[in-house]
Amino acid sequence: MNRVVLIKYGELTTKKGNRKFFINTLYNNIKKKMSGLDVSISRDISRMYIEFNDNDLDTVLEKLNLVFGIHTYQVAYKIDSDIELIKETARTIMHEKTGTFKVATKRSDKKFPIESIEFSRQIGGVVLKDNSNLSVDVHNPNTTLDIEILERYTYLYTDKYYGLGGYPLGVQSKGMLMLSGGIDSPVAGFLALKRGVKLEAVYFEAIPHTSLEARKKVIDLTKKLCKYSDSMKLHIVPFTKIQEAIYKECNPEYCITIMRRMMYRIMEKLAKRNKGLVIINGESIGQVASQTLTSMSVINSVTNMPVIRPVACLDKLEIIDIAKKIDTYDISILPFEDCCTIFVPKHPVINPNLGECLLNETMFDYETLIDETVDNVLTLNITSEEDKEFENLL
Ligand code: ATP
Ligand code: MG
Repeated sequence: MNRVVLIKYGELTTKKGNRKFFINTLYNNIKKKMSGLDVSISRDISRMYIEFNDNDLDTVLEKLNLVFGIHTYQVAYKIDSDIELIKETARTIMHEKTGTFKVATKRSDKKFPIESIEFSRQIGGVVLKDNSNLSVDVHNPNTTLDIEILERYTYLYTDKYYGLGGYPLGVQSKGMLMLSGGIDSPVAGFLALKRGVKLEAVYFEAIPHTSLEARKKVIDLTKKLCKYSDSMKLHIVPFTKIQEAIYKECNPEYCITIMRRMMYRIMEKLAKRNKGLVIINGESIGQVASQTLTSMSVINSVTNMPVIRPVACLDKLEIIDIAKKIDTYDISILPFEDCCTIFVPKHPVINPNLGECLLNETMFDYETLIDETVDNVLTLNITSEEDKEFENLL
């Protein structure tokens, strides 16, 4: 018997004007994800259909679970709309089940000779006769056998699975993700991808104060995010000279604030260069001194570019929960220092003053340093393939 995956779009169907664009983007994303598999994918306005070789079912579902824009899906038997064949298939599907069940028929083809309710009743009878471990409960059944009768084909299925939800990747423009080796920023990246935002990642490093192991961590985190897109650029920013200048010239209490203002300035330049429209990061309100609302506002004032903070209002535990689900947590907790943690002063200012920042920033020629830094960015093209390593860079 032929099986097919039926995919419900969910949230994207509410965007009426954009529906076609959304569906086409989802279609292309699924097609790309399934490349190498012998599948046939088709679509209409209400759902998408994937026909596959029986042996590939697990792989197909595994891949579908990495695609945004899917609300739910079912694995259905697809047969000709023939009464006897439907009965036989229903019997087969329900043969191993136990507990309570009901049959729900949807007759889209009104030429089909038996009305929905009557047909459900008949099929229920056939199933009960075959399997004495089952009984009917129409209100709260353990299993619902859905039967959708169309003109040519009929679909039968029992289980519904939830997809990742969100919007298909690529329905939005591009954002630049500030990706440290920590727990928060990969989660922020995942949540942005889930809204359909394409991403390029940016990592600030301060070699020799930070290690190549720290760089590898960020490469590995990017690979994890690539499971949900297909490839992602990772820009590695050589931040050493700027950090050293800050720590030499500035008030220690203000070092972190000023360092982050420098990061935002560089992010804006990289965004412009790479056609990114927004900056995305893993800041979470109140988590550390540089993430109080005062700090955020003083830091943010160096750019007019929107800064999106997907985890701003989540608790650390909620963030960790997502990090575990997307499999970045174990990488994030590896112990290598990154450029923020290495230079943390004893008493970072919690409520920085903008005037004080501006005064400190007159102490060195940061504009020249920033231009030089941006010119020396190293860009890698990362994919999720496990075997693609960057050993020559590590
Ligand atoms: P995370 O927040 O990801 O757990 P963290 O706690 O080390 O890492 P914070 O000091 O909380 O980072 O910084 C807040 C955000 O700033 C990070 O989530 C990340 O988006 C960005 N950021 C910090 N350090 C870096 C870095 N070295 N490279 C790129 N982005 C960074
Ligand atoms: Mg953090």
